[in-house]
Amino acid sequence: MKNKIEFDRVCESCKGTGLYIGMAERDGAAVVCHKCKGTGCEHISIEYESFTERKISEKVKRVFRVNPGIIYGGPNLSLFGGMPVYEWLRGLPFPPGSEDRLYSCPCWFYQIADYKKKPEWRECQIGCTFSNCRQFFSKESCWERWDREFGNK
Ligand SMILES: [Zn+2]
Repeated sequence: MKNKIEFDRVCESCKGTGLYIGMAERDGAAVVCHKCKGTGCEHISIEYESFTERKISEKVKRVFRVNPGIIYGGPNLSLFGGMPVYEWLRGLPFPPGSEDRLYSCPCWFYQIADYKKKPEWRECQIGCTFSNCRQFFSKESCWERWDREFGNK
């Protein structure tokens, strides 16, 4: 259902004075506020739809906790981890191994997803980008280690 709220508020640009003092107005100079046209009053009108329940997007097939910054697409979305949308809609948690393990390492993924689960390993040689780490091409072993150290927490 569409609703509308309307109200008048003190103009935020000029603090209700109708006069605007910007960077170029000095020593008592002011210009007429362009937002409220000098009235000091700002009329707000917002149209919105009342929330009743979450809607279902027909377009979505798979849900990911986060995107570490690559393009997710193609015929096999499960390559990137994640879970099927029907499981997410049922409220199930992301299953173990549902991180983007093919394209990101534990440090990269959990820096975005959950800082508490981000490993602080001495071996992580991160300069500017995670993919420059010396371990990155053997990140499967980093994920194995992550499973042992963080997996069931
Ligand atoms: Zn104003």
